[in-house]
Amino acid sequence: MNDFKPIKHFDGSRKAYGQQSRVEDTRGAAEDFRREMLAGPKVRYFESFDLVTVPYPTRYGLRNAFSRERWVEFLHIRNRMFVVQFDTSDGLKTLLVSPSDHERGEETPYFRRLVDSTPSFLVNYIARRHTTVPQILQRIGLKPEDIDYITYDHLHTQDVRRWLGTNEEDALFPNAQLLVHWREWESALDLNPYQADWYCPQGIHGIPAEKIIQFDGSIMLGDGCALVHTPGHTEGNHSIVTHTDEGLWVTSENGISVDAYAPQLSRISGVADYANTIGTEIIINGNTLENAVDQYISMVQEKTIAGPSQRDARYPNVFPSSELTPFWLFPGTRPSFYVGNAKHGQLTKP
Ligand SMILES: [Zn+2]
Repeated sequence: MNDFKPIKHFDGSRKAYGQQSRVEDTRGAAEDFRREMLAGPKVRYFESFDLVTVPYPTRYGLRNAFSRERWVEFLHIRNRMFVVQFDTSDGLKTLLVSPSDHERGEETPYFRRLVDSTPSFLVNYIARRHTTVPQILQRIGLKPEDIDYITYDHLHTQDVRRWLGTNEEDALFPNAQLLVHWREWESALDLNPYQADWYCPQGIHGIPAEKIIQFDGSIMLGDGCALVHTPGHTEGNHSIVTHTDEGLWVTSENGISVDAYAPQLSRISGVADYANTIGTEIIINGNTLENAVDQYISMVQEKTIAGPSQRDARYPNVFPSSELTPFWLFPGTRPSFYVGNAKHGQLTKP
């Protein structure tokens, strides 16, 4: 299909019968993979951009760990897009990571019900639109035809029709293809009701087959850029790993804050206590719990690949694609470590 290089490190790392054995086998594989990736080249360019900030239930985002759950029902998460450029044997490629079409994503059943049951002045005050994907591209000087690939760690709430086109609608990014784990694609076409509540009903409807690249396992896309299968939050979830001057950034939505990957250090109400009491090293983002054992393994895998942050070495270098962001209306939710934004290298205009 294409010359993406398979990553073999994680083959069989989840095969042990014991649950913690799977965690340790995967941690070891992640250490090997991290060493290999750090010894290789970096991406040419990586930059994060804020898209939208929305409310999200604390009982999901900080599963069982947030002690004020009964009084503070919501927290704020900020959705980000990342623009990445990397070299391949076929030249420089431009990738958009998590380009959410938030003008359309509101049709996701869970969020539709939330919006419908909340006074509109409150919705407008709490949900904040910073910018849109086309506005970001225009600002940094990329043309729609410059985009080679788009990808999402998973397809919850996503509507990709405007970007890729359908039988009725031209593609805004005429050369872009969606990179998606085959399990995510197959799930999204045939959903369990608990999962269906989080997918945009028509979000992938009518996309021409040649616009979709389904991959298996984990792959290197090019120099310094990898997609690593990290199932749990969804079966076909993957994390995006980019090698930059700040080390390896690892992005997904398995956890909603760096604090979720280092809960013992967290000052979010109750989180450190909870982590110490049950002995967990991560806090899962638990709106969909069907595969929580795998999600635990995947979060250990992610923080091991990421390694220590150069901003504060006590924390792992993960960059949640939806990051818990402090907001005065939601007391007790301020994370101890906040990534905010990151930039590496310079954009090349193709
Ligand atoms: Zn999700």
